[in-house]
Amino acid sequence: MRVAVIGAGVIGVTTAWYLQEAGAEVVLLDAAPEPASGASFANGGMLHASHAEPWNTPGVGLDLLRYLGRSDSPLLVRPRAVPGLIGWGLRFLANSRRARFEEHTRINARLAAYSLQEIDRLQRELGPEGLDFGFRRSGILKLFQDPASQARNRAASEDMEDVGVRFEDWDVDRIITEEPALEPVRDQLCGGLYFPDDAIGDAALFTTNLLAIARRRGMTYYPGVTVRRLRTFQGRLDTLETSEGPIAADACVVANGYHAPDLLRPLGIRLAVAPVKGYSLTLPMDAGTRLKLPLIDDANKVVMTPLGGRLRLAGTAEFAGRDRRLNPQRAASVLDHCRHTLVGLPAQLDTETMAPWTGLRPMSARGTPILGATKVPGLYLNTGSGHLGWTFACGAAALVRDQVLGEPPALPLDGLTL
Ligand SMILES: Cc1cc2nc3c(=O)[nH]c(=O)nc-3n(C[C@H](O)[C@H](O)[C@H](O)COP(=O)(O)OP(=O)(O)OC[C@H]3O[C@@H](n4cnc5c(N)ncnc54)[C@H](O)[C@@H]3O)c2cc1C
Repeated sequence: MRVAVIGAGVIGVTTAWYLQEAGAEVVLLDAAPEPASGASFANGGMLHASHAEPWNTPGVGLDLLRYLGRSDSPLLVRPRAVPGLIGWGLRFLANSRRARFEEHTRINARLAAYSLQEIDRLQRELGPEGLDFGFRRSGILKLFQDPASQARNRAASEDMEDVGVRFEDWDVDRIITEEPALEPVRDQLCGGLYFPDDAIGDAALFTTNLLAIARRRGMTYYPGVTVRRLRTFQGRLDTLETSEGPIAADACVVANGYHAPDLLRPLGIRLAVAPVKGYSLTLPMDAGTRLKLPLIDDANKVVMTPLGGRLRLAGTAEFAGRDRRLNPQRAASVLDHCRHTLVGLPAQLDTETMAPWTGLRPMSARGTPILGATKVPGLYLNTGSGHLGWTFACGAAALVRDQVLGEPPALPLDGLTL
């Protein structure tokens, strides 16, 4: 069976890998000249089942209004992006109803926990050929400054325990013992939740190195090739029309991030996936910024990840359409928000030493990824993973492989399909 996978981000490469390992002949295509050039390039590096809540939390509508146009806020809607977001936005808000939000959180948590098992299995199977991507099963510590939000998060974490997310409640003394870098902010903290099964790793290195192994094992990879249209024959997926000519395939997985709706619309498939912009900075760790544990600062909505001798700071959610330009003010606001926790960080953004980056998360309006079959036989999806694409990559790829090959999936697919 010849399967084309569109998109060489972490989702597309992992999907292609799983399909090839199961015996399919795989052709992987990406418009960019290098793999992991989109949202997968310099993300927060966290593999966190603990962070499974969709972003459409109950009350998000009021937050969006409060933050409208405020350039220093963690959640920003650019007024010019509003017209293009209406349909998606209404569904995003409809899914913020408490019952749906809680159901989607559990679906995400179960998928994330499965994905973390899969990433372990993948590494075991690769053995000495191994993948070097700074993977560390370090656990992740979520910090709180406000007892009410800690209590809310604790309750949400308790709800996820039966789908495989373990956590520990840490008081401030325990936090400082485990992460001495937080001593200067001891008085601001009220406690933390530690998730021992969470992990960290560099998504771009994972993607690039996994693709290199896949190619040695026979995968065909076409960089710099844009898929323009999907053609059907007698109602079934048949051909990909690309910038370099047609490519025939028995099946195709659309894994091209927030661009997926463009390819599906002409086939009458409406996909509620929109780009949500985020920023990261990658800087060398020095005495003032040396972290042992990856941290999530709940109040300031930023993450801080020690990644292979460097420190990755990431955060912000910005609805700015498809604008991929890097706004230094937004990058500086990530730094500002991180300095509330890690006071040794420099006060000013230095673009020479801090490697600022911006990427567009492919966010589904539902808040869970969109995986598997469509109404067109032979056409499958793996997109919409939003702020959790790195975490979901191996689990989502395994579920999509099962669908393409007609195998029973390892998890129930409720809430994960079109
Ligand atoms: C600031 C930031 C921090 C984040 N932190 C984390 C984190 O800590 N943990 C986590 O789990 N997730 C995190 N994420 C989310 C995660 O990075 C994304 O969900 C994930 O990278 C999405 O991967 P993807 O492969 O779907 O998309 P992408 O990586 O964007 O890949 C899509 C690819 O499709 C290609 N493409 C598009 N259209 C076409 C076409 N027509 N033809 C051919 N190719 C095409 C593009 O060139 C691109 O390479 C973060 C995201 C951001 C922005």
